[in-house]
Amino acid sequence: MIQSINELCDLIKHSPADLGVDKNPSFAFKVPRHFAQQIEPGNPTDPLLLQILPSLQEQEQVLNFHTDPVGDLKANPVESLLHKYQGRVLLMASPKCDIHCRYCFRRHFPYQQVKKTHWQDAFQYIQNDDSIHEVILSGGDPYALAEAVLIDLLTQVEVISHVSTLRIHSRTPVVMPEKAVRPNWLKRLQASRLNIVLVVHCNHANELTAESHVLFQQYQQAGITLLNQSVLLSGVNDSVETLVNLSKKLFSQGVLPYYCHLLDKVAGASHFEVKNRQGWVLLEGMKQQLPGYLVPKFVAEIAGEPYKTPLALPSLKNKP
Ligand code: SF4
Repeated sequence: MIQSINELCDLIKHSPADLGVDKNPSFAFKVPRHFAQQIEPGNPTDPLLLQILPSLQEQEQVLNFHTDPVGDLKANPVESLLHKYQGRVLLMASPKCDIHCRYCFRRHFPYQQVKKTHWQDAFQYIQNDDSIHEVILSGGDPYALAEAVLIDLLTQVEVISHVSTLRIHSRTPVVMPEKAVRPNWLKRLQASRLNIVLVVHCNHANELTAESHVLFQQYQQAGITLLNQSVLLSGVNDSVETLVNLSKKLFSQGVLPYYCHLLDKVAGASHFEVKNRQGWVLLEGMKQQLPGYLVPKFVAEIAGEPYKTPLALPSLKNKP
């Protein structure tokens, strides 16, 4: 794990001054060595570098960019659990991540509130509402937890009879695949009565490696559905060619593109914003080059809405 910007700069042959780095960012710098090794040395605009480099632009105060852009803090009926959409709840399984993505919509989330001691209340909440059929493990990143803790979580979800699906959202399989190799966890997932979905978070084809491919094969062999969720990021993946390559490479590794999110307007990340109109142009370009199953749904998360809002809606299409 690299937690020093100087160490990263040594690895990728840059000086921090040339890169315009904020050396004391409020959201700490953290990147796994595997991810850092995919960055092209000497390229200051490398799409992976831009995702993890604390830029001085993060200090800009920009209108409409907030600390809680998707209304998480208004949707947690019990600590560590979010209930926004009918039939699904999200358990904040871990307050930690293996990478700190500069665009993260939870970069200001009060993670000190996320504790294992809240889980019993969360499970009681799920038990009491038989409309909940899917539990989503998120965070932070659930793969920041030890294997035994994850297995314990799975066991507790399984005993709630009206839950049929466990969905795991994690960026670890892509950014630190060696940590996501967990034989006992995989065996338990394979034996579970639940439908298991793993949604990985990958924004650029360069993040996908031989190691991620081997890992995804193991999950596929265990009968787990593999999907990807990306964020549309200025300078990182805001071209048709980059997005088409991402979909093709995901598919070659057995993962289907699921969502491409417009940036959540979180304070400190405004420099990543891609406007809706450009998103629309990118989506149309992808449709022309790919079969429908490789075109992710372009969506925005709007606080208080009952589901993710598709970009294709005229109300979004006509906005700047
Ligand atoms: S892995 Fe996900 S939750 Fe963690 S910093 Fe990155 S975007 Fe945020």
